[in-house]
Formats: sequence, structure tokens, C-alpha cells
Amino acid sequence: MNAHMMDVPLLISSLIKFADRYHGNTEIVTRTVEGPIHRYTYSEAHRRSKTLANALANLGVKKGDRIATLAWNTHRHLEIYYGVSGSGVICHTVNPRLFLEQIAYIINHAGDCCLFFDLTFSPIVEKLAPLLQHVNHYILMSDKSNLQKSNVPNLLCYEEILSQASTEFAWPDLDEKTDSSLCYTSGTTGNPKGVMYQHRTTILHSYAAAMPDALNLSARDVILPVVPMFHANAWGLPYAAALTGAKLVLPGAGMDGASLFELFEKEKVTLSAGVPTIWMGLVSHLKDKNLKFSTLKRTVIGGSAVPPAMTRSFEKDYNVEVIHAWGMTEMSPLGTVSSLKNKHLSLDREEQLAIKDKQGRAIFGVDLKIVDDNGVELPWDGKAFGELLVRGPWILNNYFRNEKNDSLRKDSDGLDWFPTGDVATIDPEGFMQITDRAKDVIKTGGEWISSIDLENTAVSHPDVIEAAVIAVYHPKWDERPLLIAVKKQGATVSKKELIEFFKDKVAKWWIPDDVVFVNELPHTATGKLQKNKLREEYANYKLPIS
Ligand code: ADP
Repeated sequence: MNAHMMDVPLLISSLIKFADRYHGNTEIVTRTVEGPIHRYTYSEAHRRSKTLANALANLGVKKGDRIATLAWNTHRHLEIYYGVSGSGVICHTVNPRLFLEQIAYIINHAGDCCLFFDLTFSPIVEKLAPLLQHVNHYILMSDKSNLQKSNVPNLLCYEEILSQASTEFAWPDLDEKTDSSLCYTSGTTGNPKGVMYQHRTTILHSYAAAMPDALNLSARDVILPVVPMFHANAWGLPYAAALTGAKLVLPGAGMDGASLFELFEKEKVTLSAGVPTIWMGLVSHLKDKNLKFSTLKRTVIGGSAVPPAMTRSFEKDYNVEVIHAWGMTEMSPLGTVSSLKNKHLSLDREEQLAIKDKQGRAIFGVDLKIVDDNGVELPWDGKAFGELLVRGPWILNNYFRNEKNDSLRKDSDGLDWFPTGDVATIDPEGFMQITDRAKDVIKTGGEWISSIDLENTAVSHPDVIEAAVIAVYHPKWDERPLLIAVKKQGATVSKKELIEFFKDKVAKWWIPDDVVFVNELPHTATGKLQKNKLREEYANYKLPIS
């Protein structure tokens, strides 16, 4: 092979090294779990990440070992991202909102040898410890003064293990294809599955995420990831922030509207990211208190479809640009972003916003196609919908420890594709729109109805805050849509009025057969509607038969 260019591996340690050298005095601000605001710089974060790498070695942790975290978005969690992966160990972020048995399954399946956790999660860890098979060290992510607040046996303290370790550390020169971090998908059915990222895939994904038509990040930004660091690595933002030298603001456990807004304003946040559910809380706080953002310019929304009403509220009422993104844990997670093209600039505002309602076009590195039941590719006409398949350098090849090695599907050209389980259309400009999860689609008389479309229509009614549409058995049509909705406080809309509201907005045969009003809808640990729970609850629901 002709080696005419340098062979420099793409490593996670290079991100924090770069941020230290070129953006050394840029701030990282944390609302700590203990309460006070913590403020330091990329240089200090780098020094402490190296100290942590030494502390891990002192605990006997070796390259290739896995360590788990149960933690909020904080500076210590960031140091773990870099100190652990940078030294060749694997950083396994665990979602603390899962059931105890699921958390135990995940940590045992990963074979994690250490568990780092925030004080908030101490009660979980106390119950968890007897169930864990491989964890040798429990480390409270706090200082010594908080140790007695936790009853976890043989507990170590993060600040103490750091204070006992040397600050001198040379990041190892790893192969860029070394495993770096691990994240399990929530798995609405069956056991959660592990997705193992590599150094190379993480760096490539960070480059792609930072691009102007993706998340559009720069050294002029102040980024506050609301999306948790245990949800697909906070969509890669802790890495991409270092790659661009952006200031990072980490909200700790304060995820309510008031705490977030205060931090947005105090730290002059320009860009944020989170799932639609979290923004509902923030926007309703702003509305109640008649507040406006003074520095926020853009917000990335993804993880579930962004209700069109939310995009319009952000863009028109608050002058904040919505960046609608789609992806999956299996895709590191970014796949598409709904950024306009030059030709769209002459469209009027409503036409532009309608484009943003779609999940968007592929970012370089990701290839998409939609296929029918026989695997035949469907046209990009914005109408035909089929299962969405993806391929690319930061997309899963096989789930962690899946011996069957059956996570991909081969097409007739011999290329491997990852089946997303999403059903989508692609328009002639390449904009993909999710019409449903394959398992949520409503199959009525042999035709498909998109539950997401119906939910979006329901929440565009001024009296509805949240809605879920599920398939319910129908003797003639097999399945028909049932709308389950949460009304705004004090709202009086009736079932009949809500059904009327769908007329002329969707095809007649799509209109839900019935409506149930509830006080709240169930959500998964990552804030998505838990439709399988609703399907169980309404399994025997009798629709009015006309
Ligand atoms: P989980 O929540 O199951 O752990 P992910 O966060 O990886 O997993 O979820 C991926 C799925 O979330 C996608 O396959 C898709 O169904 C849904 N999703 C993500 N972003 C969007 C979006 N912008 N619009 C609609 N659905 C989305």
C-alpha cells in the first residue's frame, strides 16, 4: 500500500486534547447534582480526564473492560466519557429510568466491572448491588462529604480516587477501530440490545453532526444538551462540542422547565437539543410566565416526531429555529436532518415549515432506502411508503454479544443494510418522512394508516396537549384507529368535536373511530410514547360500530 499521507488514528482522546490546546479557556458549566453551579475549562476537563484514567488503572481496570455510569449530564460524566474511552476502556452509559431488573440485566450482560453513579441514583444502586455479577467497585460521583448519604457497601468516592491519582498521563495510541462506548436500546419488547461504538465511528459521527446542514455547531456556540448523556451519548454532543470548541452547559438533574430556562438565560445558551416531551414542559413554562429566550437561536428536536404545532411555536412565537433530526441508538445516532436547500429559500414560511415537519435528508455518510415487503426499493415520490433501511460507517453491524450475527439484511446487490423498523416515504428531493414505527402502523382493510399523522392532527387542536393513536380490533376492517388524548387544563372539547376536527385534514377513512380522554399518557425511559402499554390497556376496547 502507498502510504503518502500520515496514518493518524481517529481517537476520542484527540477531541479533548484538541479542545484543551485550541479552546483551553472555553468554559464547561454544570448545574451539579449537589446543587451549586460548577464552572471550569476544557483544559481542566482534560487534566481531570487524564487523572481519572490513572485512577481507573489504580483500581485495576484494563483496556477492553467495561465501566457503567448511572448519571446525569455533568462535568464528571464528561470526564468519564473522555477518561474511560480515551484510555481504551469502554464507557457504558446506563439509562437510570429503566426498571431495576432491566438495569441489572444490562450491566450483567455488558459485564461491567465498575459502576459510577450520581447521588440521586443511590437508592437504585442499593437495590441493584446484590443483583450485579461482575461489578467490583462502586464509585459515587461526588466528594467525600456526601459519602455517608449513600448505603452502598464499600463505596468509593470520585473526588477521592482522583485526588489519589497522578495528573500525568499519556493517552494510548489505540487502533481507531477499538471499542469505545456502549449503549443499550430501550427495546419496547424483549431484552435491551447493546450497541458498541468505536473511536473511529465516534469521530466520524462528530464531524458529520457539526456540519452546517446537520446540527450546525461552531466555536461561537453555547450548547446545552438536554438530551441525557445516557441516551445515545446525548446525540454525540459531548464529543462534537469538543471538536468545535463550543462552550458546554450541562443541566445535571434540573430537567424541569423553570430550571432549564434559568440556565439557558444565565449561560447565554445558543443551541439546545432534546426530545419533544422535554420541550413541552419548557414551552408551557414560558407561556405561563410570559417569558422569551434572549440568546437561544436553534434547538435540535428528535427521538420522536416533532409535532408541527411545536415547530411553529418555537419558530414563530420564540424566534428559535427548529432542527428536526432523526436517528437511532444503532446509528450513533444521527441519520437525517431537515435542513432546507437553496431552492427552498424562495418558498413562503408555511411551505418551509412543512419541509421541516419531515425527518429530513441524509447527512453525508448515511445512505437510505425504502423497500416493500419483498425488499424491492420503492420510488422517491413522497407517497410510496415502506420499511426504511440504512447503511454507513457509524451504523451498527451487529448487536453486542449477538452470536447469531443477524442484525443486518443483504440486498440483491449483496450490500448490507440495517433495517430501522421505521416506515417512511422519501420525496424527490431526498427528504425522508417517517409515517410510523412498523409495529405502530394501523392496518385497516389491507391499507395502512399513519398513527403519527393522526397524532399530529390531534395536537394541532388548541385544546389537546398530547395524543396517541393506536390500532384497535374491528370486526370488519381488522384494525381501526383509536385516539387517546390529554386535554389542556380546563379545556372542554368533546369527543364528537375532536372527531369533527379531523374532517378535511386527513383522508375520510383515516379519521379515528373513537376518542378516549386521559390525564396522562405513558412514556418510555427515553421520553417516547409507550404505545405497547396503551395497546395492552385497550386490547379489548369496543369501538362504536356504525
Ligand atoms: P430507543 O428509544 O428505542 O432506545 P432510539 O432512541 O434509538 O431508541 O430510537 C430510535 C427510534 O426513534 C427511531 O427508529 C424512530 O422510530 C424514532 N425517532 C427518532 N427520531 C425521530 C423523529 N425525528 N421522528 C420520528 N421518529 C423518530
